[in-house]
Amino acid sequence: MKINSTNPFDGAVIQSYTPYSAALVDGIISDMHTAWDAWREVSFAEKSTLLHKTAQILRARKSALAMLMSIEMGKPLKSGITEIEKCAECCEFYAINAEDLLKQELVSTDARKSYVTFEPIGVVLAIMPWNFPFWQVIRFLAPTLMAGNCGVLKHASNVFGCALEIENIIKEAGFPDNVFRTLLIPGSEVERVIENEFIAAVTLTGSTAAGKKVAQKAGSLIKKTVLELGGSDAYIVLEDADLELAAETCVNSRMINSGQSCIAAKRFIVAEPILDQFTDLFVRKMASKIMGDPADEKTDIGPQARTDLRDQLHEQVKASISKGAICLLGGFIPEGNNAFYPPTVLTNVAKGMPAYDEELFGPVAAIISAKNENQAIQIANDSIYGLGAAIFSRNIERAEKIAATQLQAGSCFVNALVKSDSRLPFGGIKQSGYGRELSNYGIKEFVNIKTVYIG
Ligand code: NAP
Repeated sequence: MKINSTNPFDGAVIQSYTPYSAALVDGIISDMHTAWDAWREVSFAEKSTLLHKTAQILRARKSALAMLMSIEMGKPLKSGITEIEKCAECCEFYAINAEDLLKQELVSTDARKSYVTFEPIGVVLAIMPWNFPFWQVIRFLAPTLMAGNCGVLKHASNVFGCALEIENIIKEAGFPDNVFRTLLIPGSEVERVIENEFIAAVTLTGSTAAGKKVAQKAGSLIKKTVLELGGSDAYIVLEDADLELAAETCVNSRMINSGQSCIAAKRFIVAEPILDQFTDLFVRKMASKIMGDPADEKTDIGPQARTDLRDQLHEQVKASISKGAICLLGGFIPEGNNAFYPPTVLTNVAKGMPAYDEELFGPVAAIISAKNENQAIQIANDSIYGLGAAIFSRNIERAEKIAATQLQAGSCFVNALVKSDSRLPFGGIKQSGYGRELSNYGIKEFVNIKTVYIG
């Protein structure tokens, strides 16, 4: 069966791919294992030059790569260009810092000499989602290659064009053959790949459901996993917040990637005294976002990536309304052969509704009122997820204390939207996953932290 790549803006089939056979996949992984023998010995200086070159190619091609994302998954062009620039920065961060991050650590013990060294482990399988088709891959790949591992990619089936383009860029940058490869296979073939004796570890960015399956399989084989899964980030707006800043930031976060981001704000927990004022500002700002052709420079929100995902989102909205949520904006499927869903605001949201309990992966905001600070924190933490969270207050000390010690999430921001940064660790707790990407923590996920003891 062919795998089609479909443009969510007009429903046109862009490309039809023949999935790789099991024999082809096994051959590629075997070649990669052979390539790793030489790659693990390559100096940091040489790897760094190759990664700097990758950054240059990404920058030089940013418009074309943004266009590719736009036709494959509907990303507005201006967001695509920002994504490619971020990828280039991540390559440069690891090109410059990897050697230092992985330097041996001397530890004084009763030995003549004892230290910790960080050794590569082999070929790492990365299963990636479509929402940031370049960024998700590069934030895994840059540290992985610098650590001396090889990376094999199983990208989401609707962005195989992006997957092949990343393979081309790595080749063009001058990396040796088979240190990075792309497998064009459906999700159903992944378990077989995990079983391959040359796959040393697995990282997955995607839904919690896929994460559970992959972790189960890898766990049964004692292969390490890093899981970056779903989220339902809570943004708390306290009564002393700068409301203009809070509403602007909350809307911008909810609308990241047309609402399809794991760390987009999804639940807005607002102190009762300012609920009406905040809601009014928030709805006006959501309504001002321009939905349209992702190729148009003016567009803020493109179509959703696939019609089935858009339809699933609409079901969650309808179910929430049927349980008492009030729809203040949007909440309908526009006419046409495309995957659009308008900016939508639900208020009066409460426990037991999908908008409270589940991840809404699209431009739908759930406003929940809280009587006081304690109740706001309790609602924020009342989630199976724990990826990011933010809090808005003019009292920085108060907000920082809540962010640092009360909120259950991998990243907690004050008066700012949650975002990833190559210099800071990124990841979640609870069903948002485990392990960290980026920074010094990310590059140490897939290494043998080896103790050397000279008696
Ligand atoms: P998805 O359906 O889980 O797909 C992600 C990847 O997993 C795709 O490559 C997919 O392949 C593969 N896959 C699906 N089912 C699988 C299975 N049973 N076994 C092995 N692989 C499987 O997720 P998505 O819809 O692409 O992405 C949206 C989700 O990702 C959201 O929940 C979002 O929050 C999460 N996400 C998390 C982060 C983070 O950093 N924490 C970042 C971005 C997105 P196919 O396409 O072939 O099915």
